[in-house]
Amino acid sequence: MFKKTNSFIKKHKKKLLWATAGLASFAYHAFDPTFLFRQYYWATDSIFESKLERKIEEDFKIDIEGDDDITALLYLHSFLREIQNERPELLEHIGKIIIIPENVSNLFFVEPFKKYGGRAFPIFNTIELRKPFNVCILAHEAAHTKYFETSSKDALNFNHLFKNKWYKDLHWYAPIQLFFSSSSVKWRDESCEPRHGFMSPTGALSSHENIAEYVDKFYLKDNYAFWKQFKKQDFSFDQAVNYLLEEKFISQKQHDDVFNILQK
Ligand SMILES: [Zn+2]
Repeated sequence: MFKKTNSFIKKHKKKLLWATAGLASFAYHAFDPTFLFRQYYWATDSIFESKLERKIEEDFKIDIEGDDDITALLYLHSFLREIQNERPELLEHIGKIIIIPENVSNLFFVEPFKKYGGRAFPIFNTIELRKPFNVCILAHEAAHTKYFETSSKDALNFNHLFKNKWYKDLHWYAPIQLFFSSSSVKWRDESCEPRHGFMSPTGALSSHENIAEYVDKFYLKDNYAFWKQFKKQDFSFDQAVNYLLEEKFISQKQHDDVFNILQK
């Protein structure tokens, strides 16, 4: 059996090598479908930089790359301003924001893998936003960049606040789903609602996602009904919101607003 396998490998060595390289590149592409585009934006940024882009860079000390569509940049500016007015610490660690235009997101070799509205990378604390984006997506990714910085220093583990048998509510393959696309993770009954004090099933798998998912909800408009559902939720919800305030992920006002809703 082994001899047969060995001679098969020897005979088809080149083909096997190519197949392995192909599979590896495919897996990487599925994981990071916009890799090449980001390199292109980085290389051409100084040539195509618009006035508005430079203004945002100066106002917030963040590099802006990618699509220079004016509407998208104006939205980005106002969302950054909104977060800055609320909790400036959330923006402190962002190094770069790359806006991916629709024509790239919709490409046949990008679209099937690009299931997220935004992503954050620890390399240069980069945020990638897919158009159209909103303030919640930006706040979510900003929370990731803040967490990249705080986690190593304080070894914080947010999910330790939640001591439930939550894992019974997840599919066994949920970590694999999380690896490829955080938005595709669901509870066993196919829902995604907040449960056991976690903001989502994705949040149950990583402190990192849980914090970001918590933070983005503080930027929801008309959020009364959303927060009201936590009235009968797990006690760890209170601890979580207090923790986010302590670590400067949310503002005192955001914290108090939510507790006011809960007490009504
Ligand atoms: Zn996330």
